[in-house]
Amino acid sequence: MGQHKTDEETHKVFNQPSPLEGYNAFTSDRILQHYVNAFGGGWGDEALTRYGHLVGNELQTAGFDANRYPPTFHSHDRFGYRIDLVEYHPAYHQLMAAAIGARHHCLPWVDERAGAHVVRAGIEYLHTQADPGSGCPLTMTFASVPVISQQADIAKEWLPKITTNDYDPRNIPFYEKPGLTIGMAMTEKQGGSDVSANTTYAYPLETTGPGKPYGLVGHKWFCSAPMCDAFLVLANADKGLTCFLLPRWRPDGSKNAMIIQRLKNKMGNVSNASSEVEYRGAFAWMVGEEGHGVSTILKMVALTRFDCMVGSSAIMRHAAAQAIHHTGGREAFGRNLHEQPLMQNVLADLALESEAALAISMRLAHSLDQHDDYERALFRIGTALGKYWICKRTPQQTYEAMECIGGVAVVEDNVLARLYRESPINAIWEGSGNIQCLDVSRVIRKHPTVIDAFINELEMAAGQIAQYDSELSRLKDELMSDLEDDRSLRRLVEMMALLWQASTLIQYTEPFISDAFVSSRLDAFYRHMYGTLPSHTDFKRIMTRAAPKLDNPSR
Ligand SMILES: Cc1cc2nc3c(=O)[nH]c(=O)nc-3n(C[C@H](O)[C@H](O)[C@H](O)COP(=O)(O)OP(=O)(O)OC[C@H]3O[C@@H](n4cnc5c(N)ncnc54)[C@H](O)[C@@H]3O)c2cc1C
Repeated sequence: MGQHKTDEETHKVFNQPSPLEGYNAFTSDRILQHYVNAFGGGWGDEALTRYGHLVGNELQTAGFDANRYPPTFHSHDRFGYRIDLVEYHPAYHQLMAAAIGARHHCLPWVDERAGAHVVRAGIEYLHTQADPGSGCPLTMTFASVPVISQQADIAKEWLPKITTNDYDPRNIPFYEKPGLTIGMAMTEKQGGSDVSANTTYAYPLETTGPGKPYGLVGHKWFCSAPMCDAFLVLANADKGLTCFLLPRWRPDGSKNAMIIQRLKNKMGNVSNASSEVEYRGAFAWMVGEEGHGVSTILKMVALTRFDCMVGSSAIMRHAAAQAIHHTGGREAFGRNLHEQPLMQNVLADLALESEAALAISMRLAHSLDQHDDYERALFRIGTALGKYWICKRTPQQTYEAMECIGGVAVVEDNVLARLYRESPINAIWEGSGNIQCLDVSRVIRKHPTVIDAFINELEMAAGQIAQYDSELSRLKDELMSDLEDDRSLRRLVEMMALLWQASTLIQYTEPFISDAFVSSRLDAFYRHMYGTLPSHTDFKRIMTRAAPKLDNPSR
């Protein structure tokens, strides 16, 4: 009879990969570096390298903590005074302070160099890989600037503090703080997509008109990041839906009558508080013309939609990087998973999808950096196509990456579980899928010059891959013929998005990537399941390009 084994002797851990941590999320990402350079953001290398280091190190931990300890709501203090306070874990503040320090929320508004939007999109892309939730107030603050700029008197006081790199989370009046953050509140219980159903109303406190103070009465069903210093809000004035800036504190230093009802108990986006609020005569300034609320706030919505593209591309990248890294350190049936042909096809496919998403996101960041009609037109149609398509692909990508990693990916210690729960969010807020499709249809019917610009962009990639050329001519025919009805819209929008991704890859990256994309995504027999790339694909090269390039691979 042998001796009893001690606990330590029951098994030895082997065939487990090293965790992807303690790395630089920028310098390890060859693909991100490629597109930042290709679109004129090369001068941001140093800032991106600095932020990439934070994201791969302390902000990874902060991302886990900020989601493990969700925000909590305190309606009253211990003496019974109403405080409407949302308390966050210190990790959330760490994430916010780091991002604001890196100018996630303002870079192009304070640095006019060409490429500033590209560099800022790079910062967002990196930050999302630490924590997508805190990206919500960062994005809203960034996107509020063009709206607030429309109201010169308010802009003069607010913009310098919105575009500073000081993060000040204190719950005190805006005029006492060095740095301010901005949220938005449009959605009501009876209608989110259809804001014309809004019932919140506004009445003048003195004289009427832009820049003047109003009282707001009503409710909002979703108001994320309710500790922001002010919110862009839609409410009905005499002439219809109008945009207002509603501060948390009134200018006289008293608490504004914005009452938080409760926080939403969300499946994803957990680090970010989303609340239901009521306005009981809340103070707000009118922004833009009365009755033009939708067109005023759309300047913000266009940018938040763009940020959804960048954010979802980042989630895709994070998922693909985790899957490629993990499988490289794992064997099954006597062979490393990277050497198993079927797994190679899945990993290369994840890499390809992620690169195509980043390529069109960065192409649009480049449009924002240009100031001409052509680029404005491309941005107009590109945000609808990109938000629709990238956000729709993200849940499939995170799920497939989970499967590559196997059972442990389902466990909450692994970031994949969080990425999966986060993955549908961007598709729903800021205009859900169908709303993006209806927007494309509106552009086709009402803005032919935008479609001309889009086709022109696709034609720039013509003459190199026959399959692409024939799909492009098919799309042109479809766009010439009348849209039968909205039931065929998703099919058309998908075709437009795929051709645009293909065209961007053909123009801006290496042929082995664009060839693989075209021969799969534009093939009539393309199966939407991952791992169905044709057998002539250069799988290993695609995987290697996407694999995180680590300075110290043994870690
Ligand atoms: C985590 C999170 C945070 C949010 N934060 C905010 C916030 O800070 N501020 C804010 O204002 N809102 C916020 N929202 C709300 C979000 O913007 C809305 O949920 C979204 O706009 C959809 O509105 P809804 O939920 O009322 O759905 P509905 O408008 O009821 O839409 C339901 C479905 O119907 C589809 N649909 C609508 N019209 C049509 C049509 N004509 N044809 C075909 N299909 C159609 C939509 O695409 C959608 O799929 C947040 C949402 C989430 C999930």
